[in-house]
Amino acid sequence: MAEHYDVVVIGNSAAGLQALRTLRRHNQQLSVAIIDREDCPAYSRVLTPYYIGGHVPREELDIVDLDFYKKLSVTTIFGQAVVSIDPEKHSLQLADERQIGFGKLLIGTGAEARTLGVAAEKSCVLRHVSDAKKLIGLLKTAKSITAIGAGLVSLPLLSHASDEIEKHLVVGSGRIFSRVVDAEAAAIIEAKLTSKGLQIHKKDDIETIDEGNRLQLKLRSGLQLESDLLIVGKGVVPNTHLAVAAGLNVNDGILINRFCQTSHPDIYAAGDNAEGADFISGEQTIQGNWMTAVEQGENAALNILGHECPYQGSLKNNITEIFGVEVAAVGYCHDDVAEVVSSYNASTGRYRKVFLDEQQRVVGATLIGETNDSGLYYQLVTTRSVFPGKELLTGTANYAQTLFRLE
Ligand SMILES: Cc1cc2nc3c(=O)[nH]c(=O)nc-3n(C[C@H](O)[C@H](O)[C@H](O)COP(=O)(O)OP(=O)(O)OC[C@H]3O[C@@H](n4cnc5c(N)ncnc54)[C@H](O)[C@@H]3O)c2cc1C
Repeated sequence: MAEHYDVVVIGNSAAGLQALRTLRRHNQQLSVAIIDREDCPAYSRVLTPYYIGGHVPREELDIVDLDFYKKLSVTTIFGQAVVSIDPEKHSLQLADERQIGFGKLLIGTGAEARTLGVAAEKSCVLRHVSDAKKLIGLLKTAKSITAIGAGLVSLPLLSHASDEIEKHLVVGSGRIFSRVVDAEAAAIIEAKLTSKGLQIHKKDDIETIDEGNRLQLKLRSGLQLESDLLIVGKGVVPNTHLAVAAGLNVNDGILINRFCQTSHPDIYAAGDNAEGADFISGEQTIQGNWMTAVEQGENAALNILGHECPYQGSLKNNITEIFGVEVAAVGYCHDDVAEVVSSYNASTGRYRKVFLDEQQRVVGATLIGETNDSGLYYQLVTTRSVFPGKELLTGTANYAQTLFRLE
C-alpha cells in the first residue's frame, strides 16, 4: 500500500483536533494523518449562529490555521470523504479511490442535522459552514422566519438574527429546551423570549409546506404562517454508516468502551458519533456536546498511544446565550432526582437549581443569568461532591473557598 500512517483520524473537528494535540503532546515520532471531507482548517460549529447573525466574521470561526497541522507534522487530507473502512486490512478508501493504510484509526465523524425529509429551497438546517453561508443568503431579505425544534441550533439562530425580523418557533413538546434544562428553567427562559418578541407555538408541528414567493406553513393547530425561511433544528443523526459497513458494533452511535475503543481493538471513536458511558448513570449515551467530543478525542489518543487510561464518562455541559439571556446546564438536570434545591431572583433574573442524589451529592445544575460560575458546578458534579449549602446558589458563597475544599 502506497500511503500508510501509524495513526489516522477521520473528522477534523472537536474530537479529531483534540486527538491530534494529545498524540503530539506525548509522541513526535508516529506518522499521523487527518482526513475530512470539508476543505478547511477546523472551525467552531458552536459559533456559527453568531457568524450568521453578523456578530462574528468567518475567520473568527477558525480554531486553528493550516500552519497548526504543519507544526504538528500531521498530514492533512482535506476535501476528501472516506467511503469505506476495512478493519482486517487496516485500510480505508477515499472518495477519489485512494487507499490509506493505518495502524490505529480514530473515527470522529460527528453527526449530521436531521432534516424534515421535504425539499424546500427556503428551508435549511445548520451543521456545517456551508449551511451557515446558505442561511446568510436567505436571511438577507427575510421579513419573517420560522424555526422548528427548540434546541441549541434553533434558539441561538433566532436569537442572533436581526431584531427587525418577525420570529416564530414551532415546538412539538410542551416546552422549549426540553433536552437541555429542567421544566422550571424552561418556563423562565420562555417568558423572557416571549417578552423579546419571539412567538412560540408549543405542542404543534408543521403539517404542510408550500413554496411560492414566500413559504406557506400550515401548522397542525390550523395556524397559517407566511415565512421567508424555515430553520430546521430537529436534532442530529450520528455518522455511523462507515462503522456499520465495517462491521463494528453500532447502536444509535458507534459503541465504545471506557477506553474509547470500538469492537475492533485498533479502531477508536469519539464525539457526536460515539456512544459511551455517561458519567452520572454509567449508561451508554451520545452526549452530543463539544466538551464530550474534546474529552473523548483526548482519551482515545492516550489509549492509542498505549496509556491504558479509562475515561470517566461523558457529562451534559451546555453554555449558551439566547436573546441576551445566559443559560447553562451541567450534568443530570431532571426533577426525578432525590432532591432539588433552587433559588430564583425575579428582579435580576438569576436562577440556580441544583440536582442531588440520595447521598446529597451534586449530579446536575441549571443556571440562568450570569453563568460564570458554571465551571464550579461542573467541578462539583465531576468530583461527586456533597452539596456545600444554599448560599452557593445566591452568589453569596466564597467560590474560591468552595473550590479549595474540593481539591
Ligand atoms: C449550530 C450549532 C450550535 C451548537 N452549540 C453547541 C453548544 O452551545 N454547546 C455544545 O457543547 N455543543 C454545541 N453544538 C454541538 C457541537 O458542535 C458538537 O457536539 C461538536 O461539533 C461535535 O464534534 P465532533 O468532533 O464529534 O464532530 P463534528 O463537529 O460533527 O465534526 C465531524 C467532522 O467529520 C467530518 N466527516 C464526517 N464524515 C466524514 C467522512 N465520511 N469522511 C471524511 N470526513 C467526514 C465532517 O465533515 C466534520 O468536519 C452545536 C452544534 C451546532 C451545529
